[in-house]
Amino acid sequence: TDSCLTAIEGANALNAFAHRTPDMAREMARAADARIAAGDASPMTGIPVGIKDVFCVKGVPSQAGSRILQGFKPEYESTVTRNLWTAGAVMLGKLNQDEFAMGSTNETSCYGPAVNPWRGAEGVRLTPGGSSGGSAAAVAADLCLGATGTDTGGSIRQPAAFTGTVGLKPTYGRVSRWGVIAYASSLDQAGPMTRTVRDAAIMLGAMASADPQDSTCVDLPVPDFEAALTGDIRGKRIGIPREYRVDGMPAELDALWHKGAEMLRDAGAEIVDISLPHTKYALPAYYVIAPAEASSNLARYDGVRYGHRARLSQGDGITDMYEKTRAEGFGPEVQRRIMIGTYVLSAGFYDAYYNRARKVRALIKRDFDQVFDDGIDAILAPAAPTAAFPLGSVDKGDPVQMYLNDVFTVTLNLAGLPGISVPVGLDSQGLPVGLQLFGRPFQEAELLNQALVLE
Ligand code: GLN
Repeated sequence: TDSCLTAIEGANALNAFAHRTPDMAREMARAADARIAAGDASPMTGIPVGIKDVFCVKGVPSQAGSRILQGFKPEYESTVTRNLWTAGAVMLGKLNQDEFAMGSTNETSCYGPAVNPWRGAEGVRLTPGGSSGGSAAAVAADLCLGATGTDTGGSIRQPAAFTGTVGLKPTYGRVSRWGVIAYASSLDQAGPMTRTVRDAAIMLGAMASADPQDSTCVDLPVPDFEAALTGDIRGKRIGIPREYRVDGMPAELDALWHKGAEMLRDAGAEIVDISLPHTKYALPAYYVIAPAEASSNLARYDGVRYGHRARLSQGDGITDMYEKTRAEGFGPEVQRRIMIGTYVLSAGFYDAYYNRARKVRALIKRDFDQVFDDGIDAILAPAAPTAAFPLGSVDKGDPVQMYLNDVFTVTLNLAGLPGISVPVGLDSQGLPVGLQLFGRPFQEAELLNQALVLE
């Protein structure tokens, strides 16, 4: 804990931590020491972790990267963080992220972007990815031993790929969403971001639990994920989806994808060509469904109940208060999503957009069901269409450019399946590239074991 706190002090330039909690960390570390001395330790006891800002931690600023939650200190604890503290983990602070987890570069954050510890040509500063960019940067720079992330459309897996770390998005319902500030409730899922697959297995085991406070969280026993890591994948059938070989994909990314398949084959798996025919509709469906749910979830930020309230003028009524607060409190990307969301949910357009997107979502899910029914155990694909790129290079006037970065990740959230991103090598610029494995529902143990082979 002390060495992490020192490392954090020396890493201001990464802007990974939004709020630090050194006193809390030292106190929790002392309690962990006592637990270890008493022989009452779990594998997470005394492990210093960072928490994405979107998780409510009692008494600690929790803003989800948004100005509208300035000054908000929750009176309650998210189930995930409560589980981590119960296991003995140590809280280092809150990690930077895109505002309300909307973004793929960490540049929509009210704290300014987190910075990737990897550098581009001539030392240029790169994005750590997003929305869990602070988590990825902190883990990659050894500021913590693990971090929590959330993944609504790739926000754990893409930043892991951009920083050479491991990121696991569990099956929808494996981890409780209670106390996690909502973006798109039918897609959001929390998971671990770590240096190694083994650490991800340990951390997921501590984060997951049944939870009566989240009706979508399943009441299944949490397996010993670490014990499942045998490295034996003989006879497993791994699918390579041809639809993920998109136009304009860099040849070296294709080569690393090939290398990943070879590693699995060398370990005794069978590599099978598969088809997920509705893949190309995933991105448009996601960018209807996620904003629709977000527009509803974000209606609660009205200047009355949480955080920021605009300064009002004489004669302003309650509507002025709502409007001014929301105009000041939400950044441009969040405002855009609210507008898209309310539009696709409005009476005249609901069937044309939202309902159609829901049907597409069902077809995407069916593609995966079909492949798993045919005996495929996991699917191997790139985690992102590029390696990390320079901060500031996405044209602010063209948000679709940023959305396109999610082309390989959103399918999994629409289908509710588990996925893990693992670093497999470096590109010609010396930057890390990640591959992801998709697994069957609630088979995270098997998925982690397969991922071990790619490490
Ligand atoms: N980049 C995607 C978005 O902006 C995914 C974000 C996420 O997974 N939270 O919606």
